[in-house]
Amino acid sequence: MESILVLTHADETGAALTKASLEAITAGQQLAARLSAPLIIGIIAADATNLANGLPSKALTVSGEAFAQPRYATDAAACEVLCRASAATIILAPSSSRFARVVAGVAHRLNGFIDTHVTNLSAGAIGGTDTIEATRWFYRQRIEAVLTRDARPWFLLLDAGTHAPFAGACSAAHMEEIKVDLPPIRTSVTGIRAPMQDAQTIRPDAKLLFVTGAGWTKKQPDGQTHVPEASDLILGFLRNTSASLGSSKSLVDQGGEGNSVLPFLTHLNQVGQTGATPRHPKGLATCCHGEEPHVVGWRFIADRRAISLDPNCGWTRGKADVVYVADAFPVIAKLNELLAAKNG
Ligand SMILES: Cc1cc2nc3c(=O)[nH]c(=O)nc-3n(C[C@H](O)[C@H](O)[C@H](O)COP(=O)(O)OP(=O)(O)OC[C@H]3O[C@@H](n4cnc5c(N)ncnc54)[C@H](O)[C@@H]3O)c2cc1C
Repeated sequence: MESILVLTHADETGAALTKASLEAITAGQQLAARLSAPLIIGIIAADATNLANGLPSKALTVSGEAFAQPRYATDAAACEVLCRASAATIILAPSSSRFARVVAGVAHRLNGFIDTHVTNLSAGAIGGTDTIEATRWFYRQRIEAVLTRDARPWFLLLDAGTHAPFAGACSAAHMEEIKVDLPPIRTSVTGIRAPMQDAQTIRPDAKLLFVTGAGWTKKQPDGQTHVPEASDLILGFLRNTSASLGSSKSLVDQGGEGNSVLPFLTHLNQVGQTGATPRHPKGLATCCHGEEPHVVGWRFIADRRAISLDPNCGWTRGKADVVYVADAFPVIAKLNELLAAKNG
C-alpha cells in the first residue's frame, strides 16, 4: 500500500506556507483520496508551530533558525529526516528553487527515484494493483508523457500553477516535531539581494501575461518609430495591472542586433518554442504576429487575446479567443488612462 508525503516550506515571511507548497498539498490530498492512502504533510520552517493549522492531515515538522533560509545542506537534511520519519513511498514537493535543488539529492540518499516538472497525477487499478501515473511535457511542451514507476520511494516535483492552492478549514492538525542532526554548515546566508519589485517584470503568480511583439518598434502609420512612447505605454500598463511581461523572440533578439530596443526586455521574457511556457489565467498579446513558434508558448494560457493591426495575423487564424484589429498605441494609452483612474 502506498503512503504519501508532501514536502512543504514556509515563504520568506516565515508566517505562511508558499503558494506552490499549498498547491502540492492539494495534489497530495487528491492522490491520497484516489488511492485511499495515508497522507502526511512535511513542513520546513524556522517556526512551524502555526503553519500546520488547517492542514488536511497529520504534519511532521522540522523547525529552527537554520531552516529560516534556503541552504542545500540544511534543506537536504530536513527533507531526508521527514522522508525517513514518514516512511512514505510517494513524496510530492513543489518545484520551488528551494526544493528543486535539493530533492534529487534526497532521492539519492533514500535510494529512491525522482521525476521533475510533473503537471498532473492520477491513479487507477491496473491488473488489480494501484498504479500511479505522473504527467509531464517534453520537447518544449510539444509531447505529453505519462510515466509510471515501480521504484520506491518515488519523488515527484510538481510544476507551479498546475493545482489549486489548498485552502483548508481552520482546525488544528496533529503535529509532530522531528529532530535533525544539523550537518556541518559552510554557507551562511547574509541577506537577499533582489531587484526592486517594479524592475522585476516576470511575475509567475500574475493573473495576466502581457506580451509585447516587434510591432512596438516598427515604423508606424506616420512613417516613424515610437520606441520611447512604446516603452512608457508598456511600463505604465505593467504598473497599472501588475501583469507579467512576456515578449516575442523577434523583439528580444533586436537587442543583439544593435537596434533601438526596449531596455527592460531580456531573453528571460521570451515566450515560445525557444522561450518560456508560462501559466496565467489570461494573456494579452500586443503588436505580435502570433506565429506558431511563439504561440506554442501560450499552451497553458487559458484566455488568449491579441491586439494587432494585421487582420490576417496568426492570432486571427484560430489561435486567440479574441483579436482586436486595432493600433495598440492608442488602445494601451486609453487602457492605462482607465486603469489609472480605477486604481485611484
Ligand atoms: C526554430 C525557431 C524557434 C522560434 N522560437 C520562437 C519563440 O520561442 N518565441 C517567439 O516569439 N518566436 C520564435 N520564433 C520566431 C517566430 O517564428 C516569429 O518570427 C516571431 O514570433 C515574430 O515576432 P513578432 O510577432 O513580434 O514580430 P513580427 O512578425 O514582425 O510581427 C509584428 C506584428 O506587429 C503588428 N503591429 C505593428 N504595429 C502595430 C501597432 N501599432 N498596433 C498593433 N499591431 C502592430 C504587425 O501587424 C505585425 O503583425 C522562432 C522561430 C524559429 C524558426
